[in-house]
Formats: sequence, C-alpha cells, structure tokens
Amino acid sequence: MPSWPSRIQAGFEVVTNPKRVGVLGGGQLGRMLGLSGIPLGLEFVFLDPSAEACAAATGELLQAGFSDEDAARRLAGLVDVATFDFENIPAATARALKESCALFPAPDALGAGQDRAAENELLNSLGIDVPAYHVVSSRTDLLEGLDTLGYPAVLKTRRLGYDGKGQAVLRDPEDLERAWQKLGDFDLVLEAFVPFQAECSLVAVRGQDGETRTWPLTRNVHSNGILMLSMPGVFDQDMQSLATRKMQALLEHFDYRGVLTIEFFLFQGELLANEFAPRVHNSGHWTINGSTCSQFENHVRAITGLPLGDTRMSGHSLMFNWIGEMPDKHRAMEIAGLHWHDYGKAPRPGRKIGHATLTAPTLEELRQNAYRLANIAGGEFPRLLANLFDQ
Ligand code: AMP
Repeated sequence: MPSWPSRIQAGFEVVTNPKRVGVLGGGQLGRMLGLSGIPLGLEFVFLDPSAEACAAATGELLQAGFSDEDAARRLAGLVDVATFDFENIPAATARALKESCALFPAPDALGAGQDRAAENELLNSLGIDVPAYHVVSSRTDLLEGLDTLGYPAVLKTRRLGYDGKGQAVLRDPEDLERAWQKLGDFDLVLEAFVPFQAECSLVAVRGQDGETRTWPLTRNVHSNGILMLSMPGVFDQDMQSLATRKMQALLEHFDYRGVLTIEFFLFQGELLANEFAPRVHNSGHWTINGSTCSQFENHVRAITGLPLGDTRMSGHSLMFNWIGEMPDKHRAMEIAGLHWHDYGKAPRPGRKIGHATLTAPTLEELRQNAYRLANIAGGEFPRLLANLFDQ
C-alpha cells in the first residue's frame, strides 16, 4: 500500500487509489493526459466519435458521439474517475456520466464556458475584467452595440467558437455586412477590439484539498486566431500575482478540481480576460519539457487525489505549434534541447498535428535555437519569433 493513499470523493462515495481514468474526448490533449498518467500506474479509456482518435494510442477507445448519454454511462461503468479534454461536451452527457462516476472538473465549470455572454458575465461578476461587450440577438442589437463600442470591434458566436472560428473583426460598415451575412443566424456577442500589447495565459491546477499551484504566466503569439508560439517566464512577479488573483477567484467559484486556464490580453498594464478553458491548454504544452511537473501530470494528479507536483520552470523554454504540416523532423532534431511531439493525426490545413518545445539553460541559447527552428519551419515563424523577441 502506498503511504499516502490517493482518495477522491465521488458524490457520497470515497474512491481510494483510483486506477482507471475516463476521458470525454480523445484528441491530442487526451493523448498527452494518457502519456503523463501511464507512468503513475493509471489506465485510460477515451470516449470520442472518431475511430481515428489519436488518444487511443494511450488507452482504450469507446467510439460514440458526445451527445450519446448511454455511452457516457457505459464509460462511467468502466472507470473510477473521469475528466474531459474538450470543453464543448454537452452538459447532459457530463451529468449522465456523473450519475455513477466522479467527474472533474465539475459540469458547472464545463457549462459556464460554453456561452461567451454567460462567461463574460460570470468573469465580470467575480471582478475579472473582460473587454467591453454587447449581446447581439438581432441586427438592431448589432447596430446598437457598434454605437456604444465603435469600430473596430469583434463579432463572435456565443457558442462553439474556438481558435478564432466563428468570429469576424469589424473595421467598417462593409465588414459589418459581410460578417452579418456569415454569422447573423447565430446568437452573438460584439466585443470591443483590444489593441493589446501582448496575449498571455495562466494555467493553474487545484487539487482535491483545494491546494492551488500556477505555472509561470505564458506569453502567446497567435496568427489568424490560432496559437503559434508560447513562451513562459517573460512577465514580472507583479503581473504573475495579478493573474493569479484572478485565477484564484474563478477556481474558488467553481470549487474546482484539475487544470484551469485563463487567456488574457495585456492592455495598458491591465489584464483583460479573453476566455477561460476548463481543461489543460495548448499554451501549457511547454510544461511537459520546461517544468518539473507538466499540466497533464498535475491534472491527472488532481483528479485522482494525488499530491500536486512542482510547477516551477526548469530553465527557459519556447513552444512552436505545428498547424497543418510539420517541418523536417531530422533537421529540427539536430537542435539541442528540442523536444518533438507528434500527435499521430493526419495532416490537414488548419489542424493542430504536433508541437515542439525548445528548452535551454540560458535565454540567449534559447533565442539562437529558436531562430534556427523558425528558419527550418519557415512560413510565418521567423516573423512571429522576431515579434516575440523584439517586443
Ligand atoms: P478566441 O477564439 O476568442 O480565443 O480569439 C482568438 C484570437 O483572436 C485571440 O487570441 C486574439 O488574438 C484575437 N481576438 C479575440 N478577441 C479579440 C478582441 N476583443 N480584441 C482583439 N483581438 C481579439
């Protein structure tokens, strides 16, 4: 018997030493959860609609749609504790699973992030500032919103938007017409366009006993709404504390268990929350190689009742996301401190198929190796990297 038996509370039942973990969703996040949990002696079962779900390399696959409540109940019967790697799981599916199995984080946190208007309202109510916004259910609402917020503004679908999908920047009345034709059938929010100095995110983990740890605030660089680069360790302690206070308010509101991420815009010395994700996050992938305990392992520790691991950075690191295609692996792997992550997914334009994290003992070595990798990867990377290092 271990000296510290891990325990989780599932409704009225206490589960000691959970062994099997269920995951709603079987994408790359699930796969990396599996890769981090297997060394802890855990087994994984993923529920995913696709027979090609890439997480299946690390566990069993239950092939079923996310609305299939019976499949969720079957999953509950196969595992001791469950989680999800995808935030658009229908609330009813999460509730069906939770009838007979512990589910972390709780469905409340899952539901709250599924509607941008409700999400903004919640964040504001907790004192976590968001960009000014206006709820849009009709063309009149949109015109009213533009009167208040002015151009430029960002029109977003309230539900199912991610990676910049389901949104349009409005710079003039012509953009408005185009965007209304594309998005007018959906429930929407109009947000003030934030001319941010930088984008960043805070990834945190909260354990069964409420203990909370955060990784260093990470600077993120996007292109067309998709994350391309993430680099921790570039913000000072004041900014880290500011982000942590906001995170703490949200974690406590949900009595959260597991990893939670908040994405921010840094604007005039303030942090405005763009959105939160009740799960491990793309901007935390660097933690696999650049931190003592990764976001994936800590999420698994938190949901199975194990003590949390150390979230400090070891050295410097920088993550490159591979979207649609990967650079030459052999050339890239000649670079010292290069950690390659291939998700085993078929390449397709716009699809996240892998990432690489560079680690280095000094910032200068990181910078030199990052330029080498950016030149091998080509495309937008050299320019994006120059923005990152020169700002
Ligand atoms: P989202 O899907 O909401 O995370 O948005 C994707 C990306 O679009 C963000 O990471 C930003 O780069 C950009 N973006 C979203 N909302 C705004 C905004 N209100 N002002 C400026 N840029 C934004």
